[in-house]
Amino acid sequence: MASKNISKKVKKNIAKVALVSALLGVGYEEHTSHPTTVPSVYYIITDPFVTTLTEKRIEKEFGIDYEGDSNEERQRILEENLQKIYETNPALLTHCEKIVLHSEAVENSALVEPFLNYSGTANRLGTIELISLTLSETAHELAHLKYFHASKEFDDQLEYIFGNTYKKDLKNEKGSVWNDGSVRPRNGFVRPYGANNSHENVATYVEMAYIPSFWEDQQLQQSDKYLKTLSLLQEYDFISLKQFEDIKSTLDKNKNKP
Ligand SMILES: [Zn+2]
Repeated sequence: MASKNISKKVKKNIAKVALVSALLGVGYEEHTSHPTTVPSVYYIITDPFVTTLTEKRIEKEFGIDYEGDSNEERQRILEENLQKIYETNPALLTHCEKIVLHSEAVENSALVEPFLNYSGTANRLGTIELISLTLSETAHELAHLKYFHASKEFDDQLEYIFGNTYKKDLKNEKGSVWNDGSVRPRNGFVRPYGANNSHENVATYVEMAYIPSFWEDQQLQQSDKYLKTLSLLQEYDFISLKQFEDIKSTLDKNKNKP
């Protein structure tokens, strides 16, 4: 819905909504394990005073508003990751309006540390927040933004593959480990966290598409859901055709191994 050339006024309103939401403690993110966004308020207040060349480049090249860490080295890592994603699958960036990169100082500060017990978040206003600066984590959060705009057909087909298999066999409340302590792929889910709901399922698949070595895992031979899901994700541009073909050839190669 929102275009890349989002107007200043709209941006201001988004900031206002974020600020008011944060002050009220209203969580509008996809992840619900962290009820407040103290660091976001901090960045909204301080952002206008800190601008680097890399930040300007990110905003110009990708049409994405940048907020947060003023460390240009870390900004450059983010820029490289965005570049890689843009070259692999530009569709993943379509709905991203803003990226908040948390600084290591904020991440480690006693004041906000309790609220940053996640590696990233995505919200329906088109903002992702990153604590972890890896390519796969960035892709994970961008996949959330894309899924917010997905069609009913996509959802129906995903539902057809996974049905009511979510929330099963998970150990803790956060659902990052299977009951037996394993974190390996199972029942069509690439990792336990994906079994929480369809949103995390899609995001973990997209995340793993950026880790080619992951697809060597023999556990992936136990279910045909992996290939079905990858094919669906490719059809709806969550992963590129090249990613799909590379992963498929890895899965095919390992098919008849003991
Ligand atoms: Zn997620």
